[in-house]
Amino acid sequence: MSTSESHLRENPYELAREQLRRVGERFQIDAGTIAVLGACKKAIEVAVPVRMDDGTIRVFQGYRVQHNVTRGPAKGGIRYHPDVVVDEVRALSMWMTWKCALMGIPFGGAKGGIACDPKSMSKGELERLTRRFTTEIINDIGPEQDIPAPDVGTDGQTMAWLYDTYSMNKGHSVLGVVTGKPLSIGGSLGRVEATSRGALFSLRNLLERRGDTLVGKRVVVQGFGNVGSLLARFLQQEGAIVVGLSDSRGGVAARDGIDVEAAFAHKAATGSIVGLAGSSPVTNEALLELPCDILAPCALEQVITEENAARIQAPVICEGANGPITPAADTLLESRGTLVIPDVLANAGGVVVSYFEWVQGLQEYFWTEDEVNRRLDEITSRAFAAAWELKEREDVSLRLAAYGLAVQRVADATAIRGLYP
Ligand code: NAD
Repeated sequence: MSTSESHLRENPYELAREQLRRVGERFQIDAGTIAVLGACKKAIEVAVPVRMDDGTIRVFQGYRVQHNVTRGPAKGGIRYHPDVVVDEVRALSMWMTWKCALMGIPFGGAKGGIACDPKSMSKGELERLTRRFTTEIINDIGPEQDIPAPDVGTDGQTMAWLYDTYSMNKGHSVLGVVTGKPLSIGGSLGRVEATSRGALFSLRNLLERRGDTLVGKRVVVQGFGNVGSLLARFLQQEGAIVVGLSDSRGGVAARDGIDVEAAFAHKAATGSIVGLAGSSPVTNEALLELPCDILAPCALEQVITEENAARIQAPVICEGANGPITPAADTLLESRGTLVIPDVLANAGGVVVSYFEWVQGLQEYFWTEDEVNRRLDEITSRAFAAAWELKEREDVSLRLAAYGLAVQRVADATAIRGLYP
């Protein structure tokens, strides 16, 4: 386990509840409903003992939290990271509820995580960890109950082990239990790229409203994982100039632009983008403050806080990550006129195509990549338009509008279903 300081400076669950409180106040949502939505329906904490390659046994803490299932089964990723704590998982599960409601897809919100350092573990150790964790939560997940997906530190391989473990226990293959599966076992075309493609569509939607395009826009992307690396690639393909990139080991900057494909090759060869030829080194903190037109934080939460918000120069921030801006920083940025495309809108492409994968799995009928991308564009653009319309009409930030729409939809569903019993 890493001994480095956690990236969580404030309690993320409290921050998520603070966002909900702001929404409730601004849109005058009934206090009782806000109290219901501010709580997580179920939080499971499990011990996950694993025999390591050297013969020793280590016990990891694992979590699965279901925030809300009023609009459908719970849906959300599983994170493997040393800093995972239950309140981070709770916050992430709440954001999933809002994201699914905003996109109009029939899911509630969930999230899972294991406090571990996957980079220091072997493939065998990760497989044993994943299979034991899946077994510990097996009665709480399922196609009609709660459907996991990849997040930080997990990928298609992790989902394949989860799918296999669940299916072995049920006695038959259960395609709908997890999304983000590899194509060979019922994954969806376009799922790997979906989160980044959704972020690209959001940026296009914003620029279109300003009569502008991505051509020549100077972009900084923090995080070179699934979301950040593919977003950087898409933005470059659209004619934007990527002037800064980073991963957990540090960042690189180049005024005239970084060749994103060379960054992929360098990362594949060395494990990091640090040291990329033709770039100068920059810390992750300084990277966020580089002059640019668009900043896309695509790593972890709470990277833009009260402390550094005033130094952010980008007029547009696209939240590829979940929760990268704290509410206090959000207020500061808004007062300075920074336009933030909030996480629930900007990175929702992943869960939208996860929904497509779930539907395809249930029907055992698979779509073409063009069809996936076209429907993704349709759903994310419709959500963007609805949030934008509310923002303009109510003169609120795009975050407040997007969260407001989402929370209102869950509140309406709660009201019509009624409080059980
Ligand atoms: P990932 O594990 O593939 O990549 C994470 C990246 O962030 C890596 O490049 C890592 O080196 C980097 N990183 C870690 N700590 C960092 C730090 N302190 N500074 C800079 N970089 C750092 O994870 P991912 O799936 O790309 O997820 C990234 C973010 O996007 C998370 O907030 C996640 O919740 C969110 N997200 C992911 C998906 C998805 O489909 N994978 C969907 C929606 C939202």
